[in-house]
Amino acid sequence: MNTKEIWHNLLLSLETELSKPTIATFFGETELVSLENGRARLLCPSRLSLEHLRTRYEEKIREALRTVSGQSCELTFEVKPLAPSRIQELGPIFKTADQTGLVGSYTFKNFVIGLSNQLAVSVAQAVVEKPGQLHNPLFLYSGVGLGKTHLLHAIGNQIKESAPEARVLYASAERFTSELIRAIQDRRTTASFRKRFRSIDVLLIDDIQFLAGREATQEEFFNTFNELYLSGKQIIMTSDRRPTEIQRLEQRLVSRFAGGVVADIQEPDLDMRAEILRQKAVARGVNLQEDVIFTLAEKIEGSIRQLEGTLNQLLAIASTQKISPSTELARGILQNRAPVARFVSPQEVINIVCRHFNINPEELCSAKRSQEVVLPRQIAAYLIRKINRASLNQIGQLMGGRDHSTILYGIEKIEKEIPESRFLQNQVESIRGEILGKTCS
Ligand code: ADP
Ligand code: MG
Repeated sequence: MNTKEIWHNLLLSLETELSKPTIATFFGETELVSLENGRARLLCPSRLSLEHLRTRYEEKIREALRTVSGQSCELTFEVKPLAPSRIQELGPIFKTADQTGLVGSYTFKNFVIGLSNQLAVSVAQAVVEKPGQLHNPLFLYSGVGLGKTHLLHAIGNQIKESAPEARVLYASAERFTSELIRAIQDRRTTASFRKRFRSIDVLLIDDIQFLAGREATQEEFFNTFNELYLSGKQIIMTSDRRPTEIQRLEQRLVSRFAGGVVADIQEPDLDMRAEILRQKAVARGVNLQEDVIFTLAEKIEGSIRQLEGTLNQLLAIASTQKISPSTELARGILQNRAPVARFVSPQEVINIVCRHFNINPEELCSAKRSQEVVLPRQIAAYLIRKINRASLNQIGQLMGGRDHSTILYGIEKIEKEIPESRFLQNQVESIRGEILGKTCS
């Protein structure tokens, strides 16, 4: 895999935790330019994005990089020299949005319909047919990762497709809030903020529960809402709960929100989860066996984001290690948070730890109690427990027949000290990197 593919896979694997718009916003134009000798160089489009990645996402990037590339890396961040954007090369899903704020890859076509969302989808489609006329406002709610944001963008994209001149604007409530605050601070821009949000035909506001407790924003949103609503413009909102359940939301907003159609999305059933996996795999150009699909679909019940993220992880690992995405690999991923490592045996972990500390495995397993062997022994036990999920007894046996309580004591000691000792942290991480790197060679 070249760095571009690694980065692409990394972005896919981040989808377990982050939404596509977040990824597009913060990661879209960042590039992985090199990955050598345990050092990954990232080029960010601006200083702001660099700060953001470094302060909020460094750990996540490092972790994802380890899973995807099998290497443990130090990250360096740099700002890109001014150059034409190379975003097109990254493929369609990570395209940053234009001024509509819409992510083009969230469409109806790739939105799987099942029992859990058919009502929401049919209302959404009616809105697309006759924006502003049938169901206004439309209020969609569900738990996390069940497709609200996707559906919201799908509505916007479809309206744009049938009526390219329609002015559509997508914004999260958080974005609405932060832009409002900025506009108020610089008085000259308050008017243009209002104009932007009030001179449109379709307003899509995601995660409206964010307005809870924010009085000034609620006031502004109330006015925006009224102005649009009274002139027959379509408003669609999403939330993680129904309007009446949003705490500290002014009553007048609650009743406006509930005044149109309120539709929810439930958790998908097994068949729907399988269908989602099938379609996502096909979209990635992979022909996934039915038993692999069901291995994943049976275990991952709650969120579709997680379902998709796990599939991405499976495909990323299969492609890195040049193996097929089998049920075995799928099970490994489900059982183990650090799936790559499943392919290393406990004995190999011991060997790698010993090499790192320059002692031999017999010493590590011996009765010796000097500090040179005790620390490596405890680290090895800790890593075998984490990586191989071996039982305390198994580890004890492997290490010269030690008692399980001795092993437990050692593991707990490492766990306790890691957060306090930078040295230990570095040691453990670099060994873990060696182990994970090995599985890919
Ligand atoms: P929410 O906004 O409810 O937290 P998202 O819309 O971000 O959830 O969905 C999470 C992920 O799951 C997205 O990548 C989305 O494309 C995918 N997804 C959700 N529902 C479906 C569906 N019915 N068909 C296909 N993909 C879906
Ligand atoms: Mg969402």
